[in-house]
Amino acid sequence: MLSMQEYVSDAVVLRKDPQGDLDGRYVFLTERFGKVAAKAKSSRKITSKLASHLEPGTIAKVRFIENHQIQVIDALKEGTTAASLADLYFLGQLLHEFQPEPELWEMLVPGTEGFSWRSALGVLGWDPDGAACASCAAGSPAYFYVPRQEFFCTACVRKLPSKLKANTVLSIYGL
Ligand SMILES: [Zn+2]
Repeated sequence: MLSMQEYVSDAVVLRKDPQGDLDGRYVFLTERFGKVAAKAKSSRKITSKLASHLEPGTIAKVRFIENHQIQVIDALKEGTTAASLADLYFLGQLLHEFQPEPELWEMLVPGTEGFSWRSALGVLGWDPDGAACASCAAGSPAYFYVPRQEFFCTACVRKLPSKLKANTVLSIYGL
């Protein structure tokens, strides 16, 4: 008989996507394993019991099992991150699964200097200080286009079609 792998870690809930009536799909930044995408079990009872511990922005101790796919089997809320839901959503897009990010983790938990894209992009290998606008090559770009991981200055980001910009452009300095 195959044994199921079980994992436990503190985790920040980055996003939640409803899936059908009962299931939920979640993306976490876990302290031990980095980004983990997992489904909540398709049981109304379990989903509703866990739901309040799995709202985006929640910091929780989460128990996962891996059996064909990764499932959340338990979660206990421990706190809330100060980072915005938009920032958490973009982190979910930018991070790679199963790659621990201890510096990012430290920015999201209470009692630290907090989250900033200037630091976070640097940690992820896209240091904004020294970067240039992908369109006009101006220095000190203030925006980052998440799908292509490119920097844009204020003038050029305004020229991007608005359809392209929805949920794809983050402001590095929170402007
Ligand atoms: Zn530009």
